[in-house]
Parts: sequence; C-alpha cells; structure tokens
Amino acid sequence: MSMAIPHLTGRLAPSPTGALHLGNARSFLLAWLSNRQRGGRLILRIEDIDSPRVKPWARKATLDDLAWLNLDWDEGPDIGGSHAPYVQTERLPRYQLALEFLKQSELVYPCDCSRSEIAAAASAPHEATDGPIYPGRCRQRSARSATDMDPQSFAWRFRASHQRRSWLDAIAGEQSAVVATAVGDFIVAKGDGTPAYQLAVVVDDYEMGVSEVVRGQDLIPSTFRQLDLLDALGWPVPAYMHVPLMIGADGRRLAKRHGDTRVAWFREAGYSPEQLWGFLAWTAGLVDEPRVVLPRELLPTWSPLKVIRQPSVVELDSILRVLDSLHR
Ligand code: GLU
Repeated sequence: MSMAIPHLTGRLAPSPTGALHLGNARSFLLAWLSNRQRGGRLILRIEDIDSPRVKPWARKATLDDLAWLNLDWDEGPDIGGSHAPYVQTERLPRYQLALEFLKQSELVYPCDCSRSEIAAAASAPHEATDGPIYPGRCRQRSARSATDMDPQSFAWRFRASHQRRSWLDAIAGEQSAVVATAVGDFIVAKGDGTPAYQLAVVVDDYEMGVSEVVRGQDLIPSTFRQLDLLDALGWPVPAYMHVPLMIGADGRRLAKRHGDTRVAWFREAGYSPEQLWGFLAWTAGLVDEPRVVLPRELLPTWSPLKVIRQPSVVELDSILRVLDSLHR
C-alpha cells in the first residue's frame, strides 16, 4: 500500500504557561490558514518543558479554546498520530540524544555564568527575555571538561557560527544575520540535560517532519539560533513565516498587563468565535473591515502578502467597541 507523502507539514506549538489570549489566537489563525490553504498536515504540540511556569490547567484550556475558535489539526495529544508523543516533557530522551551529538562534536561547552539566564532558557524568548550577547567567558572550556562539574551548576552553551544565515520570510521579508555577532552563543540545555526551548523546538520540528514554521516576529532572533542548530545537526531547514504581534499602547506584546484579553474571557462574556475572528482578521489585514467570519471562510482569499507587517496596537476598549458592532 502506498502512503501519500504530505508536502507541507505545519505546527501549532502553544506553551501551557497560561490562558490563550488574542495575540496567540491570531498567530495560530495565520499558521492554520497557511497550512490549510495548501492542504497541509497540521500538528499540535504542547511545549511544556518550562516546568516552573507551566500551569496544570492550561493544556486542556488551550485545546478547548482552539477548538471553540474553529481551528483544527491532524495530529496532537488529544487525537494521536504517527509522530507521538506530542508533549515535550514526554520527549526528553530525544533532546538528550541531540545534546549528546553536540557535546561529542564540541559544539557546546559548559557555562556557569548566569543562573537567571539558565532558568529563562526553557521558555521561548519573547521580547524582554532575549538578553544581551554572551561575552564568552566560558567559551574556552571543552564539552569534556564538564565531567568534573556539578550538573546543577552550569548550562550547555552552543558555539554560535560565523556563517551568515538568511531566509526569505513570506511576511517579515528578507532576514539575514551572522549568529555569532548578532545573537551570540546561546543555551541549549541545563547541565543535567534538560533541554532549553531552542534545542527542543529544533528536535521536534525535525522529528515531526515540520516543513513550515509560523510564529510571532519576536522569535526571529530565535530562528537564527535554530538555523545554526539545524546546520550543526545536519537537518533540513523549514520555511519560516514570522507574523506581526499584537501589542498594547505601551508597545509591549499583548498580555495580562493590558487587561483581560484571554479568549476564554470573551467566550464567557457571550462573544462568538465569528466576532473574535472578525476583529482579529481585520487587524491582520485579511478583511477590509470588521465583519463576522470563521477561519474556513478566510481560506479562499488568504495570502501572506495581505498580512499587515507592522504590529497591531490594540486596547481593550477598542476591541470591545468593534466586537459589539458585529452581529453574533
Ligand atoms: N511554545 C512557544 C511559545 O508559545 C512557541 C515557539 C515556536 O513556535 O517556536 O512561545
């Protein structure tokens, strides 16, 4: 029996560190549209390695919110699939293997410079958490020298390359940088082998056959790091599309500090998915004016070229005004 080889595999990769909010929902919509319009396979993956920040209720709440919003996927923790498991904490041995390869190739070194940076590395670096370039204090250490060190006291830091990395981003445009000088050496795991976000995502995207990554523009510096890792591991490079963020009037990524923009809040307040999508699709540039709409109705006219490249500045008051002007 022959099996169809899917030409396009995308993923939605929520971190269950809190409730799904409007900004996440809009990014997932764009990932979903890009995938579905071309008949791709879509994987839902739970990125829960950041144990101190993960909330036990958030995984189910996120899946419920996405389903209520009318987004669907072909593989995931709720429906299974050929790339299981779909939860990062159930995939730890895979990250260990990749780390072992990097150690043996002397592409990582033990670094005990910053406890806070080591702790933060388990999460994707959204805005403020993407720190300064590492000055290189531990760079002369070999991976082998770590055998004398307490695993709790250090992190594995990757030797960033001096090669130029570039890609043509369907929304963010041409991107190009030298990782060593623009981003610097970065953490890929704790001393005990617990992976950082950068390593876990690269291993998962490769093993799950992901050929298109769609995520927020704040992760562009992470994409440069991931290109270095893919090259070091000898793995193929997916296509990348970095979508604009939704930000508050203070210029920061939409979050709790801007008021309650949880999808669940709007649902509980009686708004419909059609109203929420009407607002979100309009802010992204997918429809000319706010109108009730469902994701599948956006498929015929979807194009990344339509997406407004700048971040959308939104305030709760104006969101509600638009939603209230739309019929359920
Ligand atoms: N789980 C990451 C986050 O929610 C997504 C990172 C990615 O798409 O690579 O921040």
